[in-house]
Amino acid sequence: MRFEVTTLGTGAALPARGRFPSAQLLNANERLYLIDCGEGTQERLRQAEVNFNRIGRILISHLHGDHYLGLMGLISSMHLQGRTEPLDVHGPAELKEVIDLQLRVSRTWLRFPLRFHAVAPVNGGPVFTDDRVDVTALALKHRIPTTGYRFTEHPAPRKLRLDKLGLVPHYLRNAVKAGEDLVLPDGTRVPNAELTHDPLPPRSYAYCSDTAFTPELVPFLAEVDLLYHEATFTDALAARAKETFHSTARQAATIAREARVKRLLLGHFSSRYKTNDGLLAEARSVFPDTLLAEEGRTFAI
Ligand SMILES: [Zn+2]
Repeated sequence: MRFEVTTLGTGAALPARGRFPSAQLLNANERLYLIDCGEGTQERLRQAEVNFNRIGRILISHLHGDHYLGLMGLISSMHLQGRTEPLDVHGPAELKEVIDLQLRVSRTWLRFPLRFHAVAPVNGGPVFTDDRVDVTALALKHRIPTTGYRFTEHPAPRKLRLDKLGLVPHYLRNAVKAGEDLVLPDGTRVPNAELTHDPLPPRSYAYCSDTAFTPELVPFLAEVDLLYHEATFTDALAARAKETFHSTARQAATIAREARVKRLLLGHFSSRYKTNDGLLAEARSVFPDTLLAEEGRTFAI
């Protein structure tokens, strides 16, 4: 099943050198979630050939402009395209005021239900559960309240062993896949372990932008398959990172190493860097399985 993330925008604060502000599209078995929505996200989605109306939920981390100024434009386009499906928006409580004010002054009555859900930056706090994923909050440390998100697939059903398939009548297959033992017509009980294999463990993705170095996150990021962590600066600007509540590439890699994640994806690059090679090298010296986010690139989770 598909579980992947496309980084639509990877820049910090100011757009520069073909970079766009933060936005990502997560695809969980053809259900689409937009994470942050910086200016230009609509154009980025178009370039990725994504139909806006397939996006069912939008999650906003915080209310700095480079993470949400594209939201009203996108909502407005969905309205103009005649969307009727509900849209769920998760974000800081004040975001609702921003949306309501803009709709009111333009006298727009959306054709679709916009369901707003306030989030709070509390580690492990439930955000939502649907038929694909469980999403919990991450308490990021930034100048204003900022919530990260951890997506975890639901556990897959157990897999029937091919050599035992003949033993399990069709109508009992779902029960056996769900972990039940099989009771034969003569009353014999066949333990589930003899009939099934363990499924692949559920995959997980965590989004941490923007944040100062925050070791308190480590237990909540433990063993995620892919961790996106901001790396605005290199260590040479550690003081600047501290005063602006951002992270260096080394700090992002330290979090990845401590949390024993499988892979680290860096993003939110300062526009001062012409290339991000320095950020990558610095992170890899601490955590080798590190990748750089790129505009429009898709990463399997
Ligand atoms: Zn910010």
